[in-house]
Amino acid sequence: MANSESLHRRGLMFVLSSPSGAGKTTISRMLLNAEDNLHMSVSVTTRPMRPGEIDGKDYIFARQPEFDRMVAEEAFLEWAEVFGNCYGTPKAEIEAGLRNGKDYLFDIDWQGAQQLHQRAGTDVVKVFLLPPSLAELENRLHSRGTDSDEVIRGRMDRARAEISHYGEYDYVVINDDMQTCFANVRSILAAERLKRERRTGLGEFVRELMR
Ligand code: 5GP
Repeated sequence: MANSESLHRRGLMFVLSSPSGAGKTTISRMLLNAEDNLHMSVSVTTRPMRPGEIDGKDYIFARQPEFDRMVAEEAFLEWAEVFGNCYGTPKAEIEAGLRNGKDYLFDIDWQGAQQLHQRAGTDVVKVFLLPPSLAELENRLHSRGTDSDEVIRGRMDRARAEISHYGEYDYVVINDDMQTCFANVRSILAAERLKRERRTGLGEFVRELMR
């Protein structure tokens, strides 16, 4: 017996953006834990590896010439320079996955989201997380205890710039309460998976139904 999950559909690219400190990493982790068919897209980066990071899992670490070669060969769905380092989303694996119905999660900034949308159109669902207030965002950055006051000031400036792009997103969720925010983001994913255009198995199913 068919159900909504069993019909073939094209995968989607689920983009989560937010200023840093608005909970994007936590919400991403919660989604990946809760959703079997959601895979993190692993980016290529030229920045040095941080302690605890694993090559091939957190990022694929590359040197600049290798990154430049990939740009020239159009091997990226999108790429950007962030804080003086290059980051890019490799194309081949994701395109194959989408055909097989795999969904991908992207933790990228507004530039990446925009480029991805230009390249991949309706495969992309863009969600923006807002903090309940800028004071709360600053509190969260301080309480992480990882950054100096100067770095935090820089992050706050960047946060304002990032927030100004909220209008380019399909959905905007205010992360006031983590569980509510997670539930909202998960409903967006559930609804987007049911979109008719992605459901390549629907035609055949309905033909059978009408026989
Ligand atoms: P970090 O070096 O702290 O891991 O990431 C720095 C920034 O680069 C973050 O804002 C992150 O969202 C962004 N970033 C990571 N991977 C990509 C990517 O593939 N494309 C783009 N455009 N941004 C990325």
